[in-house]
Amino acid sequence: MALFERPKKEKNYAMVIVQDRCVDCKACEVACKAMWEVPDGKLNYRTKVLDIDKVENSERKMIFMPILCNQCDNPPCVWVCPTGASYKRKSDGIVLVTPNMCIGCKACMEACPYDARYYNEELGAVDKCTFCLPRLESGLEPACVQTCVGGSRNFGDLNDPNSVVSKLLKEATNYWVLKPEDGTFPNDFYISNSAKVE
Ligand code: SF4
Ligand code: SF4
Repeated sequence: MALFERPKKEKNYAMVIVQDRCVDCKACEVACKAMWEVPDGKLNYRTKVLDIDKVENSERKMIFMPILCNQCDNPPCVWVCPTGASYKRKSDGIVLVTPNMCIGCKACMEACPYDARYYNEELGAVDKCTFCLPRLESGLEPACVQTCVGGSRNFGDLNDPNSVVSKLLKEATNYWVLKPEDGTFPNDFYISNSAKVE
């Protein structure tokens, strides 16, 4: 089987999440919901923070893990979309949905291993994180990054060696992506001073 190679892009936008800096304040969730007018409902989110109960060295502790679309380089959500509504931009790798091309079949929601998509009844289409593309185009960071009080969420271009994300990954002794076994090649990376959590 041929090995998958990550596509080359002009910009390689990525999120680096310093997991143990997350204080579970949920400011990111609130900012995202407001920015994108995400309807109420537990299943409706573009990003959220998982609270994971973990036992480490016989000690029980809560781990807080921000999750969002990984803007995968090998995105199953795009491959299964029958209309081309879901697509990945070649220039920067952001995965988008064209609402008026979406027929609401939800195949992409089924295909995404990360539960990163939801069906927006008000839009009549599937919706997901876009790294806040309109904000990026205005020179701003994604809303969740700007509001992250703990500095857990970091955003930038991995093609730029001086970006915060490049520096964080360079300095990290260990980093990981979620569900690497699925072959999706995520662009959200996790680092932590304590043990890896998935
Ligand atoms: S995380 Fe899910 S929605 Fe996002 S690109 Fe990957 S498969 Fe698609
Ligand atoms: S729900 Fe919309 S975006 Fe998802 S696969 Fe179907 S047509 Fe494509």
